[in-house]
Amino acid sequence: MQIKENYSLKALNTFGVEARAKYLVELNSIEETQKFIKSDLFLNNKFLLLGGGSNILFTQDYDGVILKINYKGKDIISADENNVYIKAFAGETWDEFVNYCTFNNWGGIENLTAIPGNVGTSPVQNIGAYGAEVKDTIVSVEVIRIEDGEILTFKNEECKFGYRNSIFKNEVKNKYIITSVTFKLDKQPKLNTSYGAIKEELEKMYLEPSVINISKAIAVIRQNKLPDPKVKGNAGSFFKNPVVTKEHLDTLLLKYPKIRYFPSDNDFKLAAGWLIEKIGMKGKTFGNAAVHNKQALVLINNDNAKGKEILGLANLIQQKIKEAFDVELEIEVNIV
Ligand SMILES: Cc1cc2nc3c(=O)[nH]c(=O)nc-3n(C[C@H](O)[C@H](O)[C@H](O)COP(=O)(O)OP(=O)(O)OC[C@H]3O[C@@H](n4cnc5c(N)ncnc54)[C@H](O)[C@@H]3O)c2cc1C
Repeated sequence: MQIKENYSLKALNTFGVEARAKYLVELNSIEETQKFIKSDLFLNNKFLLLGGGSNILFTQDYDGVILKINYKGKDIISADENNVYIKAFAGETWDEFVNYCTFNNWGGIENLTAIPGNVGTSPVQNIGAYGAEVKDTIVSVEVIRIEDGEILTFKNEECKFGYRNSIFKNEVKNKYIITSVTFKLDKQPKLNTSYGAIKEELEKMYLEPSVINISKAIAVIRQNKLPDPKVKGNAGSFFKNPVVTKEHLDTLLLKYPKIRYFPSDNDFKLAAGWLIEKIGMKGKTFGNAAVHNKQALVLINNDNAKGKEILGLANLIQQKIKEAFDVELEIEVNIV
């Protein structure tokens, strides 16, 4: 176990913002973690869990201990002619895990290709893209209970998955450390090419629909649309798509007949990117922070922005959206 003091977090968050942790501890095994959470250093400081740092914005130095969860490995637990059950440890890179599964033609997570971050954080906000959500493949999530170091298992239905949400993002945040996730994948995959430009991209690439080809097509689409965090710091979508009632939508439609929306349970989800574009913020620069010029949901670190500047831009967008549409735009990224 390595304990670093006054450690720069710049390379550990995809926004690439500078902030320092009073302590950073890299944890490589469950046993090491169980020991560490009983130490004085842990018990006498506030703490933050960190995976790949791709859904986090540091707006100040962190005056506590950051636990970087690095557990590696994956085990096939069982398989039959239809399914494979695979347990992957929290510190595995999500996209490498996706590649491993698609290479084996195990379906279920191919539409979640090229999402940055780790396996252990995939349930936290129930990552989703291109018509898929990770919750539909998760059997269970294994955790360490911080209070006493016990290992427990949350079954899928206990995780209270929702749109970019789970129990781990809210109710039990900082009570458990996710150590591994068990997935059920399909050996006879049902392919989903109906979302976005997947079909067109497959045609352009002269590829037949298959698990691995969908993954390849989505990787290309995302590459063309989203800024590479290594070039322009960002955390993907900064905001969630807001949910409104039918009455609210009807009022908005009178003023904005072209508003983009889609049904969501009994309500309607508005495309947050469309709203931001409509208020004229797409591509706008504010100091060192900016709204991405191809995808208005993404805020970027243009040039050494401070976390506070990016948050300031986000708050300005929230305020303008409220004024224009009477809609609360919720931030998806974890603000620290
Ligand atoms: C270019 C880009 C594109 C993106 N596209 C998408 C997308 O299409 N869909 C999508 O859903 N997301 C997307 N994201 C957001 C992000 O990739 C995901 O939310 C990802 O799951 C975050 O993983 P991470 O390991 O980086 O988490 P981190 O940012 O490190 O942590 C996220 C949260 O989980 C907590 N946490 C960390 N480790 C643990 C643990 N072991 N146990 C419990 N809690 C923990 C942290 O405290 C924090 O609150 C994108 C991000 C980028 C940069």
